[in-house]
Amino acid sequence: MAKSSKTEKEAPRQINPSTGTEGSAVAVPESASEESVELTVKKKLTALFTLQAIDTQVDKIRAIRGELPLEVEDLEDDIEGLETRIEKFRQELKDLEAEIAGKKVAISDSQELIKKYEAQQMNVRNNREYDSLSKEIEFQTLEVQLAEKKIREFTAGMELKNETVKQVEEELEERRKDLEAKKNELEDIVAETKKEEELLQESSEKQKVAIEGRLLTAYQRIRENARNGLAVVPVERDACGGCFNKIPPQRQLDIRLHKKIIVCEYCGRILVDSDIVSSVELNF
Ligand SMILES: [Zn+2]
Repeated sequence: MAKSSKTEKEAPRQINPSTGTEGSAVAVPESASEESVELTVKKKLTALFTLQAIDTQVDKIRAIRGELPLEVEDLEDDIEGLETRIEKFRQELKDLEAEIAGKKVAISDSQELIKKYEAQQMNVRNNREYDSLSKEIEFQTLEVQLAEKKIREFTAGMELKNETVKQVEEELEERRKDLEAKKNELEDIVAETKKEEELLQESSEKQKVAIEGRLLTAYQRIRENARNGLAVVPVERDACGGCFNKIPPQRQLDIRLHKKIIVCEYCGRILVDSDIVSSVELNF
């Protein structure tokens, strides 16, 4: 407990974005000579920016790995949707088959009736009975024609649906292959990047040892609060490389002089000049 409160107390003030004054810089021992102050601050900044470079790589790896599972999920959703569509079509085909079977039964029923009425016509007692049976036969003949028409329609509908099912099945097959490939890719990337991440994590831990406690605490706090994970940023085109707000010329000069650690007045990120950036980039 005592230790943690001490760490808090020691946390540098410069991470407060409201204090944009020079007093916000991390103090260096007053006894140190000008030259050694510059060296010490430069060393600290270099160590910090090196740590940032390593951690940024870790962030990138995690981002890559983060996107693939989403792609896999999207494909799985697609496949589920296609399977549902096929299932629906199959049910509709079944319904059409049942309709056709029903119409066939109706046709044979009508044909039975026609035969019966024709037989009855042989034994009629008068024209009125004969005509009445003729009307019944005519009606049943029309029923047969209507049912036959319906069967043709249903059959055409089934052919169309079968064609669609075939297309959807092909699409489904394609997606399944994509999914298989994506899953393999994901596995490879996870395995590959895990190793890389572990190595980077190791060097991040090693690099942390080279940075004094309160500076490291500040770094970690800024990094946690920054959406892009950047706590140490270069001055780029006269602006902060983290929030892109302009930095006054005098402040840029101070940053280049390495007399103290200077943070962005707007976002609180630690600022480094191109000297530090290029010396760190050489090691990567
Ligand atoms: Zn900024």
